[in-house]
Amino acid sequence: MAKIEMKTPLVEMDGDEMTRVIWQMIKDILICPHVDLKSEYYDLGLVCRNDTDDQVTIDAAEATKKYGVAVKCATITPNAARMPEYNLKEMWKSPNGTIRAILDGTVFRAPILAKGINPYIPTWTKPITIARHAYGDVYKNTEMQVPAGSKCELVCTDAEGNETRQLIHSFDGDGVIQGMHNTDRSIASFARSCFNYALDTKQDLWFATKDTISKKYDHRFKDIFAEIFETEYKEKFDALGIEYFYTLIDDAVSRVVRSSGGYIWACKNYDGDVMSDMVATAYGSLGMMTSVLVSPDGAYEYEAAHGTVQRHYYKHLKGEKTSTNSVATIFAWSGALRKRGELDNLPDLCNYADMLEKATIDTIEDGVMTGDLFILSDLENKRKVDTEEFLQEIGKRLDALLG
Ligand code: NAP
Ligand code: MG
Repeated sequence: MAKIEMKTPLVEMDGDEMTRVIWQMIKDILICPHVDLKSEYYDLGLVCRNDTDDQVTIDAAEATKKYGVAVKCATITPNAARMPEYNLKEMWKSPNGTIRAILDGTVFRAPILAKGINPYIPTWTKPITIARHAYGDVYKNTEMQVPAGSKCELVCTDAEGNETRQLIHSFDGDGVIQGMHNTDRSIASFARSCFNYALDTKQDLWFATKDTISKKYDHRFKDIFAEIFETEYKEKFDALGIEYFYTLIDDAVSRVVRSSGGYIWACKNYDGDVMSDMVATAYGSLGMMTSVLVSPDGAYEYEAAHGTVQRHYYKHLKGEKTSTNSVATIFAWSGALRKRGELDNLPDLCNYADMLEKATIDTIEDGVMTGDLFILSDLENKRKVDTEEFLQEIGKRLDALLG
């Protein structure tokens, strides 16, 4: 059988540890037998980042801007322990942070559902996608401890040198203060990314903040979303029969728990950090969570939401068998290939991506799964397999589906 052709190369970002091992297996067992893979390869493994003074990460992000679609393997964000382990010149920054700073945009995280792996919340029968604003607020804050007797003020000096002052608090005991910011530009690009993603995936969009308490700051988010929706997106949403709605974060939380899923929940930076961990855990396993960064000018970077699964990698290095879940990394590939297929008008490539996902879910629903899912599954015929056998089982089903 002839392999499926591609037109434009996919930006491929390799990574570290166990996920790097899985990356190669996915290509060998699941992709290259069927697709004439065209990719522009960037090695974001820590060795290469160190050798290139991290230039490779910047090049990969620039290539993503140029071609529009990337797939990324999990990578190590170095800490003190990694300095001697990899003999690093510097404690390089998080590649995801570098890529996000260049592409801008919003991170969308969605769980992958399979029968027999049940969410802790039984009504959640469809995925809930969290859209997290990835700029500002408490992540770019300035904070201080202040002693008793301090009078603390917010001071803004405008371009003409005029000062506006507001009292924060006069302290009669010791305390703490914090300053944070966001920009209209970043909030607007967050809003557009969310509206575009809702149109792309034909799902309702929910957005919530604490605007009853934060009447200027959070209210600004609400107003920018509302204005952009009314002027640029309302007609398109109506045409697709999907909805945008804003509510208070407290109300959103209780609605989410009672919902059946199937929508996008846009969150401010901190809310998104915490709520995506909550949603991922409630759906079962980090190994079943996908993540895509969507830039305001329409570039897509797909990855798994988990890290490099370091503990499994050390076992692998000792020659022991591992049972690492590759589903999120497979779905990063299928998501990227499908998007490439849509942009280049290649229905065979889109179909391949659909079949790859179906083969993966079928494998789990047939009872063949990795250790993390084995613990969660209530299937009677379940069987725990190792990392490679899991991929081979998917491969068998994929071959059958593709004839
Ligand atoms: P992790 O790699 O996500 O793994 C934490 C634990 O979660 C694992 O030890 C494992 O539990 C379980 N787990 C995660 N993914 C799994 C999978 N696919 N299959 C089975 N079990 C899975 O996080 P970490 O160990 O804290 O971080 C390791 C490295 O990853 C760090 O260097 C960090 O910087 C990096 N990281 C990268 C990204 C990214 O590139 N997007 C994100 C997060 C972390 P058990 O050991 O109990 O089986
Ligand atoms: Mg978090």
